[in-house]
Amino acid sequence: MLQYQIIPVTKFKQNCTLFWCDETKQAAVVDPGGDIELIINAINEKQLTLNKVLLTHAHIDHAGATDKLATHYGVTIEGPHQADQFWIDLIPEQKQMFGFEQADSFTTDRWLDQGDKVQFGNIELEVYFCPGHTPGHVVFFHRESNLAQVGDVIFNGSIGRTDFPRGDHERLIKSIRENLFPLGDEVKFIPGHGPMSTFGTERQNNPFVGGAK
Ligand SMILES: [Zn+2]
Ligand SMILES: [Zn+2]
Repeated sequence: MLQYQIIPVTKFKQNCTLFWCDETKQAAVVDPGGDIELIINAINEKQLTLNKVLLTHAHIDHAGATDKLATHYGVTIEGPHQADQFWIDLIPEQKQMFGFEQADSFTTDRWLDQGDKVQFGNIELEVYFCPGHTPGHVVFFHRESNLAQVGDVIFNGSIGRTDFPRGDHERLIKSIRENLFPLGDEVKFIPGHGPMSTFGTERQNNPFVGGAK
């Protein structure tokens, strides 16, 4: 069974998520933006073996400690989608833009796209390509437990910003309505920031994408 712990990191309280398979103790970290010692402590506390680092998108608060964490454990990096390469290239500028002192560039071992699957232990996550907030944003979905990690695509009561370079508001709305909501009202999701919610709650009440059929 899939277990998870949300670890808010960086000054943006980004919801870095530690996922693990309780049968094998194999783990994956989604979006290690920073505060690497908090992430390592959580892995040690639960006596897990880190298997890979997963990325929803390449904004610095989500990806800033990717290289350090992957190097520390000698594990691979999977994600985001190739269209986020330009954000990876911009990590030095993102430090200035977002006021970060520590962050490193990285090279992913595997670009992800719609329909791909990522594995650790006995867990398989499905990949959904959801551009708009960034052009290469992906979402991870665990079908058996109806749980998604959606990064900055949708939040409890809000949606991702699209005023950054290559942001696309229409495309973001389309990603949410056509690629995420069909997964079902009962799906719980961990957003990149703030409290969890369900697609059903957002489909009804979210001021940006609510009222969708
Ligand atoms: Zn972002
Ligand atoms: Zn974010």
